[in-house]
Parts: sequence; C-alpha cells; structure tokens
Amino acid sequence: METILELKDVKKNYGKKEILKGINLTVQEGEIISVLGPSGCGKSTLLNIIAGILPLNAGQVFVRGKEMSSPHKVVPIEQRDMNMVFQDFALWPHMKARDNIIYGLKVRKTDKAQMQEKLHEVETLLHLEGLLDQYPAELSGGQQQRVAIARALITNPSIILLDEPLCNLDVQLRIEMRTEMAQLFRQLKTTVFHVTHDPSEAFAMADRIIVMNQGVIDQIATPAECYESPRTITVAGLLGAGNCVRGAVMEGPAEAESLEIRAVVSVQNRKLVCKSFQNVKKGQKMLLKFRPEECIFVEKECKNAIPVRVVMSSFEGGQYRVKVETDGGDTFCLLHPTFLKEQQTGYAQILPERLYAYEEISG
Ligand code: ADP
Ligand code: MG
Repeated sequence: METILELKDVKKNYGKKEILKGINLTVQEGEIISVLGPSGCGKSTLLNIIAGILPLNAGQVFVRGKEMSSPHKVVPIEQRDMNMVFQDFALWPHMKARDNIIYGLKVRKTDKAQMQEKLHEVETLLHLEGLLDQYPAELSGGQQQRVAIARALITNPSIILLDEPLCNLDVQLRIEMRTEMAQLFRQLKTTVFHVTHDPSEAFAMADRIIVMNQGVIDQIATPAECYESPRTITVAGLLGAGNCVRGAVMEGPAEAESLEIRAVVSVQNRKLVCKSFQNVKKGQKMLLKFRPEECIFVEKECKNAIPVRVVMSSFEGGQYRVKVETDGGDTFCLLHPTFLKEQQTGYAQILPERLYAYEEISG
C-alpha cells in the first residue's frame, strides 16, 4: 500500500500560542482516518495545514512523497490532489446543486461528455436524483451534505478531507449519515482524513483513530484498540471512562515487558489489578479510570472490587445509573438492573482489562 499523506513534525503557532506541537502521522491509500479530540485542540488547524489553506511554522507535509508544505513553501490546494468538505458545507448559494458539484471539473476544463458522465455517477452514488436543479437554500441539511460530498468526490482526488462533516445535522440524520458515508468511502476505496469531536462518529467511520489533545497526538490505533487500551488519561476520558478513583502502586514490573503492563494498585488497602501503559514505581500515586457500564455492583466481597456506599439511583430506562461513594470520598457511577437504596453498601467490581491506571500528575 502506498503512503498517500505524511506529516513530519508539523508545528503551528498563533502569536506565542503553540497550537500544533509537532505532529507526525502517515495515511495509507484507501484508509479512513479520524482525528478525534475536544473542541479547540487544533483539529481544523491541522486539516487546513494539510489542505494548504494555512501556512505552518515548522515541519513538512508530503502527498505521495512530494513536499507540499514547509515553512518556506505552500503548494495551493488545487495542486494537492485533495478536496475538502467543510463543517458548514460551504456550497455557493447562487449556484444550483449541479453547478456546485461540477465546479471542480469546469476549472479543470473537462470536456462536456465526460463531465455529464461523472455527474451522473456521483448523482447515483449520493442519491441526488431530482435535486440537481435546486439551489442550496432549497435543500435540507442532509441533502446539502450529500452535494458537498459529491462536489468533493467528482474530481477523484487522492484524499478527501472532512471537517466535522455531520455536526450541523440533527441526531438521527447524523447516525444514518455516518454509516452511509463510511459505506460509500469503503466502496470507492477513497482515502479519507476526517476530524471530529464525537467518539461515536470516529468509531463508525475510521480504520484508525488519531486522538489529539492540546496540539499533541496521544494515540494512533484502531477504534477497538483505543477503546480497550486508552494510552493516556485524556483518551480514557474521551472514550467514556469518566469514572475515577485514587490509589497508590503496591507492585508493578520495573520495566515494561509489553506495551500493556499490569500494575497492582491499592485503593483503601484493597488490591486492584489494572492495565497500565507506563512503568510504575511502588508508592506512586495513581488515578484509576473506568466506564460506568463496565463496573458492576455486588453485595458480597469479591476480586478486583472497591467497597462503596450508594448515594443515589436514577432510572435510565431499563436500568439505573447509581452514584456511589468510596470510604476515601471518591464518587463514581455504575449501571445496575434494579434500584439500589441510599446508604446500601457493597462492592464495585471492575475487570483488570477494563481498569486503567495513570500516574497522578500533581499541580
Ligand atoms: P478545533 O478544530 O479542534 O476545535 P481549531 O484548530 O479550530 O480547533 O483551533 C485550535 C486553537 O487555535 C483554538 O484555541 C483557537 O482559539 C485557536 N485559533 C484558531 N484559529 C486562530 C486564529 N486565526 N488566530 C488565533 N488563534 C486561533
Ligand atoms: Mg474545528
């Protein structure tokens, strides 16, 4: 497989503020990549640098091995063999859907017959039958979205760039469109570089996810790997492991033998076996992160469990979300099939594979 896109140590500042702090990544032909990160972490900045819309302060961008951006040079987007779908679709309001879609072919002076053939192809692919003579204002959000994707696809670019493509659609449509988009791009073997703040969108679309946080890449892995083994506390939080309790290392291997070492952490004098992604030292303070849906409430003492007291149960349709408190004063949530009474005591059990330990950084 050919490497289509490569970024080497890309840095971007606005004034003194570092927005991208040295981004390295590669994208292979036909891959769907999702950059996942909280709002403001630099996703759009990254995308605009890849597209050549923004200059960079350091590093390089390569497309098929050719340098496209460096601090001294920026090749314009028309010469990069890529198209972008913007967050607000950015369709030209004075042009019918048809003219929006074929714009890129017109610029390239494609002949009429070929233009018609390509138009027909994307019309079918994106279910745009009957919509081509409408103006953008006469189309629904989902239809505008399809037109924007058709416009990006029609010139057969090496890469399609998508900036939060679904965030202007309502929830139901968003869920439908993300599956549809993933299906379409897989079928066409299009290389896609997609950015989003929505983990479920990244899960539904991506072959690999790049998790970004404050201008730094925290993890690059398949969706399942990111979910099962979140490398940093930020990735864990983004991917649903919002629960947190404090503990300290009882024992842990001195050297990492594999990438995922097991650490034994004590929480109120109880041994908990966890996944850890770093070398840990005895006595070191740790934060244990886990998901409410991966934690069960049991009445009797059991392995890998923390003693807790119920604070509150709230009905969630089919199950209860139960807030519990530890003797150490940490509170977290778990899901339980039945109502649990306030003050009831028991144990919150989490499997070692789903309990993640991170070094507590003070300050
Ligand atoms: P995201 O797309 O992940 O939400 P952005 O890439 O849009 O994040 O922005 C990253 C950071 O850069 C934000 O803190 C934003 O305020 C800042 N930023 C973006 N554009 C500019 C600009 N033109 N001038 C100064 N700061 C900017
Ligand atoms: Mg953005």
